[in-house]
Amino acid sequence: MPLHETAPKLTPEQYERNFADIKPALSARQASVEAARCLYCFDAPCTIACPTHIDVPAFIKKISTGNLLGSARVILSANILGESCGRVCPTEVLCEGACVMHEKGEEPIDIGRLQRYAVDSVGDRKFQLFRRGRSNGKRVACIGSGPASLSCAAELAKWGYEVTIFDRNELAGGLNTYGIAAYKTRASDSLREVEMIRELGVQFRQKVEIGRDIVFTDLEEQFGAIFIGVGLGETRELKMPGEDLHGVYGAIEFIEKTKVAPFSEIELGGKVACIGAGNTAVDVVTAARRLGAAAVYLIYRRGEHEASAFEYEVELAKKDSVVFLWQTQPVRVLGQDGVVTGLECVRTQPGSREAAGRGNAQVVPGSEFTLGVDMVVRAVGQKPVTEFLRSVKGLQLHANGTVQINDQFQTGNPKYFAGGDCTNGGKEVVDAVADGMAAARGLDAWLGSPRAVSSTN
Ligand SMILES: Cc1cc2nc3c(=O)[nH]c(=O)nc-3n(C[C@H](O)[C@H](O)[C@H](O)COP(=O)(O)OP(=O)(O)OC[C@H]3O[C@@H](n4cnc5c(N)ncnc54)[C@H](O)[C@@H]3O)c2cc1C
Ligand code: SF4
Repeated sequence: MPLHETAPKLTPEQYERNFADIKPALSARQASVEAARCLYCFDAPCTIACPTHIDVPAFIKKISTGNLLGSARVILSANILGESCGRVCPTEVLCEGACVMHEKGEEPIDIGRLQRYAVDSVGDRKFQLFRRGRSNGKRVACIGSGPASLSCAAELAKWGYEVTIFDRNELAGGLNTYGIAAYKTRASDSLREVEMIRELGVQFRQKVEIGRDIVFTDLEEQFGAIFIGVGLGETRELKMPGEDLHGVYGAIEFIEKTKVAPFSEIELGGKVACIGAGNTAVDVVTAARRLGAAAVYLIYRRGEHEASAFEYEVELAKKDSVVFLWQTQPVRVLGQDGVVTGLECVRTQPGSREAAGRGNAQVVPGSEFTLGVDMVVRAVGQKPVTEFLRSVKGLQLHANGTVQINDQFQTGNPKYFAGGDCTNGGKEVVDAVADGMAAARGLDAWLGSPRAVSSTN
């Protein structure tokens, strides 16, 4: 069924221009000039701010002396997904946010792009920096192939474990492949990292859903321990009339298309409304504008200062002429012949403060209005995969559906460890990587640390 009105198709060149790297790669000259600005601080605050604690001054120093291989080794030893993190990390609030240059009133060091420069130089020349460790005879399964499982599997493979990753998707990489905005990273970038991890001897079994295609008891029989890195699930529903009309999409499902389908084949309304104000909502509206939608609205029932999206992401969407309707609450999706034609909204105003300190929006009587749109995207958070998690014997969940773990990342069932979005409720790639590595250490200790060999060439 077609949408009420669709956005005009752009030329392939326009799509590529619109989705070009938002932080373009540095040239060798730019990298060397930028590296020379670094003060190589002792107890560097950037290293402390990075969840994987990459030794930032050390890798930048190596860039400045032309030792790109050494630089990449510093990065990838601390964070095997250092390449994608260089592209997608919110560096403004992590390493670069902590840079001492701020105190001097200068621009922070461009750490993310230097990191990408060093790691790309290895990837482009197809160097394999790490080797699989000599087999210690122990087998570990990872459920999910997102950043958490990838980092866990890579660590374990370096220590001699035989690791198999199971993922229900066709392609590996989790949201790194399917979810992160195309102007930050393409699916091919993520798949290149997957290949690096495959070369460490990690086995990938795609299109296998654990709990459906393989039952837990079989997995437990075949593997000494199991890491759960299943992330979060589908986008939450709006629970409002009209939600089942054609033209209402979940944010994750919409963004996924921008990652794996040709831009020209994506179904897009001429006018699009996105409900929510997190980073995912901002990714949706920015993508919709760049795909050619004439008008794109972001709708949030509270004020701008209460949006959970990073400020710099909101600014990006503003530059793309997205219309932000703050203090606006959607009431129902309107349609004709089963297809979206509009969104009925009311204005709100800040009410009494809630316990969490966020404004309790109150409807302004008589403020109803209709927005003519052809597509509505729900970006009100992802649901936890509670049903799946509950089917693992002994696993305990927090009230918000995330998995309870101890400081070794071990769950209530000692054979199962967990990390990433399914335990932290949805953070960043770098946090999932840090979790995966910590879980690998916990898992290794529980299995008696049968490490055999050094992990680098
Ligand atoms: C739209 C969007 C944009 C984002 N943008 C950024 C960004 O710019 N920068 C950033 O740092 N972070 C970003 N993030 C967050 C980041 O993508 C996640 O924090 C990270 O991917 C979490 O990794 P994970 O391994 O825990 O889970 P995921 O990446 O979600 O991977 C989980 C994997 O488990 C698989 N799986 C689930 N259940 C099963 C099962 N039963 N059997 C087999 N496989 C299963 C899934 O198919 C999936 O591949 C974004 C997230 C979203 C949703
Ligand atoms: S991984 Fe991310 S936070 Fe850590 S140093 Fe690199 S860009 Fe900064």
